[in-house]
Amino acid sequence: MSDLRTKALDDFRRCCKDRGLAFTFQRQVIYEAVVDSREHPTPELIYEQVRQRIPSISLGTIYKNVKTFLDSGVLKEVTLHHGTLRLESNMTPHHHLVCSSCKAIFDIEESAVEPVQFPKTRLPAGFSIQHCRVEFTGVCKSCRTNRRKTSKASS
Ligand SMILES: [Zn+2]
Ligand SMILES: [Zn+2]
Repeated sequence: MSDLRTKALDDFRRCCKDRGLAFTFQRQVIYEAVVDSREHPTPELIYEQVRQRIPSISLGTIYKNVKTFLDSGVLKEVTLHHGTLRLESNMTPHHHLVCSSCKAIFDIEESAVEPVQFPKTRLPAGFSIQHCRVEFTGVCKSCRTNRRKTSKASS
């Protein structure tokens, strides 16, 4: 087990304790599936991973636990507007690069992005900002490579 994974599990255990969540093997396996995936996985993808270790688990159970994790702040939902729920365990504030072709999501450190300013005077009346998420869209390396291959094949 890598140091990163050990640390993530320690954090998870502490998080459960702080929030009064029972620390079960099932929850641990679900959490590990999110940590191990570098892809900001969907619940369906987590289900595929977890099923290899707990074959009897259902997708409904995954959804239920994911919802509990989100409600208690153990996991974070990546974006609200991609149509599918994408999850991550990285609770450090950060931004994202999104591949517009395959929807892969990559983390970018908060410090890599220029501070985003929004003048209070331009806010709609009564709106108060809580978080700022910056999302850059583009095309990832593997999609670019595939595209090049496809265009070569067709020319
Ligand atoms: Zn891509
Ligand atoms: Zn992220």
